[in-house]
Amino acid sequence: MISVKHLSKYYGEHLAVDDISFDITEGHVYGFLGPNGAGKSTTMNIITGCLSATDGKVLIDGHDIFDEPDAAKKLIGYLPEHPPLYMNESPLEYLKFVGEAKGLRGAELSAQVSEVIEKTGISNVKNRRISTLSKGYKQRVGIAQALLGNPKVIILDEPTVGLDPIQIIEIRDLITELGKTHTVIFSSHILSEVQAICDQIVMIAKGKLVAFGEPEELQKQLLTPNEIILTTDAADIEIKKILDNVEHIAEIDVEPSESEFTVAHIKSDHDDIYDLSSSVFRAFAVSDRIIYEMSLKKGNLEDVFIELSENADAEPAKSDEIQEKDVTVESEVDKA
Ligand code: ADP
Ligand code: MG
Repeated sequence: MISVKHLSKYYGEHLAVDDISFDITEGHVYGFLGPNGAGKSTTMNIITGCLSATDGKVLIDGHDIFDEPDAAKKLIGYLPEHPPLYMNESPLEYLKFVGEAKGLRGAELSAQVSEVIEKTGISNVKNRRISTLSKGYKQRVGIAQALLGNPKVIILDEPTVGLDPIQIIEIRDLITELGKTHTVIFSSHILSEVQAICDQIVMIAKGKLVAFGEPEELQKQLLTPNEIILTTDAADIEIKKILDNVEHIAEIDVEPSESEFTVAHIKSDHDDIYDLSSSVFRAFAVSDRIIYEMSLKKGNLEDVFIELSENADAEPAKSDEIQEKDVTVESEVDKA
């Protein structure tokens, strides 16, 4: 359905998207997860043809977004981070306008506008000025315009940002509903949100794809234990001596202690931590030292994500000098 190949994007000197490749297949809800500044919006803007790439390819159902933009864009409905809503119009007027821009006319236009109004639950506000609507309703209008033209894929950039808790639940429910009839890609910097509504996670950090797959699969991939925690009566130097000939130890970290017990954290440089733990056990056994406790440390997805987010915070702030010329007019206005 969507094939992203070696996509990169520089803003001036700053590499915002770094050689990302993945494939989106039909019938799933994809959660594009990453801390702020990870490159989610940039990637989405490129996939939807709103921004040029520095390098790489995007194919939508076989159509290259750069070479055949019309054919490719017909297949995608997009809610950008800052949707270009016309505040003085009503949702009905606005949706008719967008529908026409997407090439719909006459009875087909009316039918589709009614349908998306129904689907997004905005019939009760369809004649009010958009400026008077709550953020939650504005977001629904934004999603409604993405649905016009009945595209196969709906791409939503942080659709729940800035909403109150009830609105967040409503928009999440709406995304789940849309997932029954469309392929949906939505971005979020909230792990629990992505886990709650998507069946595939695309995790990016610092412009790089760091994980891709089903949430349970990722849990396994990312979270295989890689550290042994050991409590022993051997002292710091002794522990290191005992483990001197054991292979695949990347690091030994001993907790400072006043008591007769020492707690050591042993990190592996190898996939098979169980193999290392049996070697450690044998090394202690022949040394005649006691192991009081030995366990394998597992993280969780939350830890991995927090670590990624913390690292990402160190990235440089967005530079105002660098202006993107080829970004769509609407989002440029919104960014200003
Ligand atoms: P996300 O949506 O994941 O928060 P973005 O794609 O918006 O991330 O941004 C990725 C990186 O690119 C960030 O470091 C951001 O500061 C930078 N960036 C985004 N847009 C621009 C722009 N128009 N000019 C310069 N740098 C930008
Ligand atoms: Mg963003």
